[in-house]
Amino acid sequence: MANNDDKFKKVISHAKEYGYVFQSSEVYDGLSAVYDYAQNGVELKKNIRDYWWKAMVQMNDNIVGIDAAIFMHPTTWKASGHVDAFNDPLIDNKDSKKRYRADVLVEDFREKILQKINKDVAKAKKRFGDAFDENEFRSTNGNVLRRQKQIDDITERLTEVQEESDLAAFKQLILDLGIVCPVSGSKNWTDVKQFNLMFGTKLGASAESAMDLYLRPETAQGIFVNFLNVQKTGRMKIPFGIAQTGKAFRNEIVARQFIFRMREFEQMEMQFFIKPGSQGEWFKHWKEARLKWHLSLGLGEDNYRFHDHEKLAHYADAATDIEFRFPFGFKELEGIHSRTDFDLKQHEAYSGKKLQYFDHEDNANYTPYVLETSIGLDRMFLAVFSNALQEEELENNTTRTVLKLPAVLAPTKAAILPLVRKDEALVKLSKQIIEDLKWDFSVTYDEKDAVGRRYRRQDANGTPFCITVDGESLEDNTVTIRHRDTMEQQRVKIDDLKAIIKKEVDVKEWLMRM
Ligand code: ATP
Repeated sequence: MANNDDKFKKVISHAKEYGYVFQSSEVYDGLSAVYDYAQNGVELKKNIRDYWWKAMVQMNDNIVGIDAAIFMHPTTWKASGHVDAFNDPLIDNKDSKKRYRADVLVEDFREKILQKINKDVAKAKKRFGDAFDENEFRSTNGNVLRRQKQIDDITERLTEVQEESDLAAFKQLILDLGIVCPVSGSKNWTDVKQFNLMFGTKLGASAESAMDLYLRPETAQGIFVNFLNVQKTGRMKIPFGIAQTGKAFRNEIVARQFIFRMREFEQMEMQFFIKPGSQGEWFKHWKEARLKWHLSLGLGEDNYRFHDHEKLAHYADAATDIEFRFPFGFKELEGIHSRTDFDLKQHEAYSGKKLQYFDHEDNANYTPYVLETSIGLDRMFLAVFSNALQEEELENNTTRTVLKLPAVLAPTKAAILPLVRKDEALVKLSKQIIEDLKWDFSVTYDEKDAVGRRYRRQDANGTPFCITVDGESLEDNTVTIRHRDTMEQQRVKIDDLKAIIKKEVDVKEWLMRM
């Protein structure tokens, strides 16, 4: 596929054409940064959620799940700091009238310099072949060193303006770097302003008695306020975790990257409650465990990198992002944060209730520290989907569009195809096979068009197996099974189908790779 922009456009149009993601309220021309999951999308999303839940909750005997409400008492958001500090710095370009996040403008600028370094390294690698020493090149080449210094200077200034919330200095940084608006190409910027990302709403029938509420901007707080309820009723011993998946809402300033940044999205979060002082060790543990989970899906080791935060949020003493190579570059997919005892202490202070743990081994009370893993389900969907979409050149000079979704996540595991749709016996046998397989897998029936076209359709849909029923099947109870990725075909017994499919789609087989 030609370039990243084209690739991303193809991802979006494929998601629509094959029933994965639609724009919300499309008949009314849509709603910005809000999307609906269609018939295939909902299955893929559910499978990703289940894959996470299995790895986090079911496989860990010290992690349990909850499902807290989206509405929470408004004091929650005072205590958590969201009312006062859940802001993004925004800046407008006066010529294009486009609005940007000031930090994202600077980060994108910095990323471009990094790309230049990587290009130089790749070029040198090609030129010098086996004799190339990358570390030496990076530490001695003049251009690389100059660019690296630029990157370090930008990072230092960005951290400083963010830490001090110095909006004038923020604007100055953008001006000094000569950043131009991608739309108008001009440097005609407004001042930088802070913008709160929470959506407000009202609870109650009459205007006078109504209570101001927020739609939760993260699921984490539902876990913190339930910490003691879960600990006591579940008789949980530290260390233990509480996981949940659910909707979160943010009035994002810039929202033009399809389901990467939405105003209504879903998070999968886990708060791990630990003994104060052990956070370094657990931070390391969860960093490794979460990366392993990602790698188990086989999207390619090179597509992930850690980005340790220089600027820590007010509640954190360490933080890293797992970044993924999306079609528009490396971006945050998951955050891992060491949140100290900030949240529980804040809820104690605002509620006046003790949220402490009695440690029988130490015979002491303390407020646990918290290690958080937080991943966006929609971003994970985009990572999986965009990575899977490929156009392959075939031997006969044709191309095929194939969605190489990890089989464990694919919405439909197998399509059953009678070779000839007018042959009633073939149709009957196909339907019998479906009746048998549907207890274990999501399967579909497809009889329209020549079988080659049906294969292509299922390839583009991401279905790992096509099972073709033909005249021979009626005689010897065998069928042809075709594998999506290799296009290899095998003749197998109908009785063996279940085992063959299970081996490829079973969650255990995939998670065991962790
Ligand atoms: P970003 O810097 O990209 O705005 P964030 O650091 O604010 O993200 P967190 O608050 O750490 O994100 O949220 C945890 C996860 O939730 C993110 O890693 C991301 O996968 C997901 N997420 C956050 N905001 C959005 C959004 N607007 N749309 C979709 N997913 C989101």
